[in-house]
Amino acid sequence: MTYEFIPPARPIIGEDERRAVDAVLASGQVAQGPQVHAFEEEFSEQVADGVHAVAVNSGTSALHIGLLASGIGAGDEVIVPSFTFAATGNSVALSNAKPVFADVDPVTFTLDPASVEASVTEKTAGILPVHLYGLPANMTALRQIADKHGLALFEDAAQAHAAAIDGQHVGTFGTFGAFSFYPTKNMTAGEGGMITTSDAEVARKAAMIRNQGMEKRYANELVGLNNRMTDINAAIGRVQLGKLAGWTKTRQQNAAFLSANITEAVTPHVPEGYVHVYHQYTIRLEGATGAERDRFTAALKDEYQVGSGVYYPIPNHRLPSLAPYAPGLELPNTEKVASECVSLPVHPSLTQADLERVVEAVNAVAKAGA
Ligand SMILES: *Cc1c(COP(=O)(O)O)cnc(C)c1O
Repeated sequence: MTYEFIPPARPIIGEDERRAVDAVLASGQVAQGPQVHAFEEEFSEQVADGVHAVAVNSGTSALHIGLLASGIGAGDEVIVPSFTFAATGNSVALSNAKPVFADVDPVTFTLDPASVEASVTEKTAGILPVHLYGLPANMTALRQIADKHGLALFEDAAQAHAAAIDGQHVGTFGTFGAFSFYPTKNMTAGEGGMITTSDAEVARKAAMIRNQGMEKRYANELVGLNNRMTDINAAIGRVQLGKLAGWTKTRQQNAAFLSANITEAVTPHVPEGYVHVYHQYTIRLEGATGAERDRFTAALKDEYQVGSGVYYPIPNHRLPSLAPYAPGLELPNTEKVASECVSLPVHPSLTQADLERVVEAVNAVAKAGA
């Protein structure tokens, strides 16, 4: 039987995006301008409950500038998960603060509040949870810990556009939220990021820091960067934002089909009241070693032409770049999920036949390996 390969992700970029880019190019104004401004307003309105939105050139910049605008700097510790993309810890380190890695809950893959509380020291200034794979972190418990110890709460929402808890969108729970528009995220701008905040002063500082620290031209108030978004990227982002709700619904329907039919692996858990937007649909092969999991993903591809991804095989506290911040640290749940996790295709381009093949492959390969 020959199958066509099912890719683990597929950015959808069409005629509408091309026309929008062409209009910007024809206008002659390509750097930050009216498209960026409109994108900020629309993003705030549609997925950030009306808070301030500041567009930048990447999700990493959104995290970095959000931290700087919130006053994080030398001498501060910020508690982050180790089970995430390196940008989370990198942004803390680039702010001259120290990333302190806490463990995750092995069922939801997001920060374990008990491990966070155990990581608090007198230097802790903030907590930066990640809404990993599109599932909101436990913001109620993390808010309680932050308030109890007088800490700021931030959000890495790079994978979680339009995710919510009890009707409140992610990116509005903390001092700021950071979104990414990298091509494989739930919506793209080519590259890009967005800082959301209900704090007018944080928004003002973030807008300054992205542009050399100036609000008024050549009257620079802060030391800043050039991390502006272009109008070309914003024009793509605006078109994609208009399609996000439909794509999210399709992702959720695809996930529901997978969860109803995958019987040989642990499927994602969604707490009551949480909206999961399935940036990734991630199963666990309970008890698998990293090598066993890698044989599983190889068999999905070789026998069924089903693509998959492992996010993330090496916990951040063991990366050569970030390990120096965490000598001797052990995070048992992080190690466990890093070897058990497999992300399956869930993107909106999948057909019903694709979904059925993913289910058949996962159940058959998991059973054979058991
Ligand atoms: C993608 C991502 C980022 C960084 O976003 P970029 O736009 O690639 O810079 C940060 N955190 C997480 C969890 C991500 O997945």
